[in-house]
This record gives sequence, structure tokens and C-alpha cells, in this order.
Amino acid sequence: MTDIDVTRTDFGADLSVKIREIETIPLHLPFGSPFQISAATRDFLEVLIVRIHTDQGVYGIGETQAWRRQGSAETLPNLMRSIHDQFAPLLIGRSPFEVNAVMHDLNACLYNSLYAQAAIGDALYDLIGKFLNVPIHTLLGGKCRDRVRVGAVLSMKPTVEALLDSAQGFYDRGFRHLGLKIGIDPAADLRNAAALREQFGDDIVLRVDANAGMNFDAAQRLLRKLEPYDIDAAEQPIAIWDIDGMAELARTVDMPIMADESVSTDHSLLEVIRKRAATVVQTKTAKNGGIHYIRNLWALAKAAGMRIYPGNHPSTSVATSSVAQMCAASPEPVMEGVFAVGVSGALADDIVENPIRPIDGEIPVLDGPGFGVTLDEDKLEKYRIEI
Ligand SMILES: [Mg+2]
Repeated sequence: MTDIDVTRTDFGADLSVKIREIETIPLHLPFGSPFQISAATRDFLEVLIVRIHTDQGVYGIGETQAWRRQGSAETLPNLMRSIHDQFAPLLIGRSPFEVNAVMHDLNACLYNSLYAQAAIGDALYDLIGKFLNVPIHTLLGGKCRDRVRVGAVLSMKPTVEALLDSAQGFYDRGFRHLGLKIGIDPAADLRNAAALREQFGDDIVLRVDANAGMNFDAAQRLLRKLEPYDIDAAEQPIAIWDIDGMAELARTVDMPIMADESVSTDHSLLEVIRKRAATVVQTKTAKNGGIHYIRNLWALAKAAGMRIYPGNHPSTSVATSSVAQMCAASPEPVMEGVFAVGVSGALADDIVENPIRPIDGEIPVLDGPGFGVTLDEDKLEKYRIEI
């Protein structure tokens, strides 16, 4: 057995690296076609890319979005003000390796500012990965899988034929997990679910998502009618705040309930767990504050026997890689989430030189340092907006 010198303190890398500057890059990224859910229609996505620069040249990148719902009250200018005015003074001169202490300080400074903290925390992980020349899945405990199966979102369409066309397009590209947006017109929702089952039989896993858009009565009535269509999970049928209502639905409707909008912090997840208001939880990079916080949510959910649905708002390959790295490091299986909704067709363009694209309904886990993505400076200039 080799003797190990436990008094050694020189490990090669110069860990005295210090954060020098926080750069924010606000972007408007066009959707490929208007993105419609029960509560909103969007023509473009408001993205904020954060670059944390160090005194040793290495930098890390993180992504968040100004989603303006689901617990996000921020606009792009607000996110930038929070980061430059409040967070930067707490970050400059610190070691990027002090992630826990730094994130604790950011939260103490701006309580529950998860959308702003997401980009900072993820940029710190990316920075550490790049500094140590390892992918983030290595930092998270090691890679358990090379590819991650993802689902596709079926945006609302004016006719059932148009919906089936879009579903067939995803099916032909290898997707087998489809998320149907519901919540505006229950008759159309039923027709769509029936048509999808008729077209694809048992070849697809079908999930529905109301984006908190229904009242309790409407949700209970619709979900009961959807029971014959083998729905794998009904995502956030009712309002964010109605955890008791979600628990009532979970008891009275024969399909699993998924909490998305209702879960922001660990406390909100604990409330869902205590009340058995859902058996599936969806996390998102921006909504839940990035890797630093989402790791804890996944640990809680696993301990409670919940299924984990890795999600994201529509995003670029930066946030897509963030979630993929977490999925790769999870020894337990995770569900086929829709965190690649940018690159699987919702967004018209990406901002990295090596976009993560689904192949046969799976995305590769990148093995480059950090997130493994390289920003495309020309694309950043193309979509950058003046604030
Ligand atoms: Mg959702």
C-alpha cells in the first residue's frame, strides 16, 4: 500500500483564483412558432446569460430567463440590477470554490431571488468545472449515463389535425414522451388526448400540463374524463397556492399529479410532500435556482418516493446542459423531461457553438469542462438587446 502524504497542500491547480467581474448579457431569442400555453402566448424568449470572470482568465457561464410567471416577477432589467447592484459586491474578490457560502450570502441579501441566483450558481459550477478541467457531472459525483431521454411539448394548436401533425413530427424524430398543453378548452383537451391515443396507441407516454390555468372544479371534471387515456402525470392542474386542492385531486382522480409551479423552494416542496399533493415534482433551472438548490430538491423528492421530472422553461443549450449534467449524475432514473424545449424545436436559434440536439429522443451528456458548451459570440451579438 502506498503511503499517502496527508500533510501535502500543493495539488497542482492554483486554487487562489478570485472572481473579478460579473458580466450580464440580455437576449431576445425568437421562438420558431408562437409558444402558447394556457396562461400566455410568447413570440420571443427573454434570456439572461451571466459570465463570471476571474483573475486567472477562466470564466463560467450560467443562464436564467425573465419568465414573468411561475414565481418569477422579474424582468430582464430587474434581473440585471439584482445581479450588478446586490450580488456583484458579494462576489468580487471571492473564490468561486466557495459556492455554498456565496449562495448563502446571495439568498441572505435577496431572499428567494431564485431566478437571479440560478445564473450565478450555475456559472460558479461551470467555472469550477472549467478550472479543474472536468465536466459538471464529475463534480456532482460521477456520470451514470451517457445519454438522457427527453420529452416533447405539444404547444396548443387551432385544430386537432394540426396538433396530430406536430405530434407526428416529434414521433418521427424519435420522441416517445409527449406533454399535451391543456386548460383553456376542456372539449378540445379531451379530443386531443383521444386523438393522440388513437394515432399512437401505447407507443407514447402521454402527460398533460395545465400550467396552473384551471379552477378546482374544472380540473377535477376534466382529469376524470381524461382517465381512460392512460395519462402518466397531470402537471400543475390548478393554481400555485392551492396545495390542498392538489392533494384533493391526487386523492380523487385516477392519475398521478405533478407539481411544477407550486414548487420553488425546499419549503414549498416539503409542503407538497406533507400533504401528498403530488407524487411527481418538476424542477427548472431558473424557477428553482439552478444546480445548487435543485440538488437539494431532488434529494428531498427521492427520500419522499416522488418521481423527478427534470424541466426548464424554454432555454438555450446552456440551461439544457445544466439539467442534463444533473440527470447524468443521478444513479436513480429520472423522467423524460422537457428541459431541451429550446433545441427540440421551440426556439428558432441557439447561442452556443455546439448546440445540444436530440437524436432519437435523447440528448448527449457533454463531457467537456463545466457545462461543455461554448458561447457563440456572433449569436450573442445578434440577439443581444440594449438595456
Ligand atoms: Mg409546467
